[in-house]
Amino acid sequence: MGDLMAGRRGLVMGVANDKSIAWGIAKACAAQGAELGFTYQGDALRKRVEPLAASVGSDLVLPCDVTDMASVDATFAAVAEKWGRLDFLVHAIAYADKNELKGRYVDTSLDNFLLSMNVSCYSFTAVAQRAEKLMTEGGSMVTLTYYGSERVMPHYNVMGVAKAALEASVRYMAMDLGPKNIRVNSLSAGPIKTLAASGIGDFRYILKWNELNSPLRRNVTQDDVGKAGLYLLSDLASGVTGECHHVDCGYHVVGMKAEDAPDI
Ligand code: NAD
Repeated sequence: MGDLMAGRRGLVMGVANDKSIAWGIAKACAAQGAELGFTYQGDALRKRVEPLAASVGSDLVLPCDVTDMASVDATFAAVAEKWGRLDFLVHAIAYADKNELKGRYVDTSLDNFLLSMNVSCYSFTAVAQRAEKLMTEGGSMVTLTYYGSERVMPHYNVMGVAKAALEASVRYMAMDLGPKNIRVNSLSAGPIKTLAASGIGDFRYILKWNELNSPLRRNVTQDDVGKAGLYLLSDLASGVTGECHHVDCGYHVVGMKAEDAPDI
């Protein structure tokens, strides 16, 4: 254990279970001495998140549904009451109707478009607004994105559009909040088997393709993303803001199938 995050207080939004990317980042920060709070969506997830929080010494576990601004307000009011200030924020939240994470993007319904944009993009802006008020000594915010925002990935559809908007919002918020020494960045993680990923059609094919064709010839792990999260949230990245940092075993630099990759 190091002390890179000693004395830092951070809110982690988006842990569903021990496979969640947010949990990987939380573990990396806790191992460096951070004090953590967690939010969960709905009672079913509460009993999963509470023991995880307890395992890193946290008793700040709050319900938060990001589609409900009263719930978001209540979360930040509770953080303000307990801590008075906040140093970092992890936003690892996304949602789209599973029925539209297959087939064609062009068939996206208006309702699903608006819901996906709301949960997967606007929610980061909504929480950043509230977090800004508590980041009185500067701070760092990180959200999670995916390469499907930059290139067409099979079945990613409306989520790719929402992630593109999310990455743009990171750049705008970096500019808005920079004068207060609040940094805003995104991590573009390679595919990882999580609850959210299980909703994406043929996800196993995407995993296999990345494993065979990325420069490191493997898939990224929860720990890989956790360590990159720690970097962006800590002073190691003190000069970094507005960035979309790829943690994908290098897959985003690849132009075509690797010569040594077998057909799948
Ligand atoms: P996950 O299922 O563990 O986490 C998704 C979280 O979003 C859950 O905790 C869920 O409760 C939360 N959420 C959904 N709707 C919400 C709402 N209305 N209010 C509050 N919370 C809500 O899956 P994950 O893969 O760890 O996803 C975390 C982030 O990482 C997402 O933004 C996802 O798009 C992104 N990401 C995932 C991958 C991957 O391959 N798994 C790759 C790149 C980026």
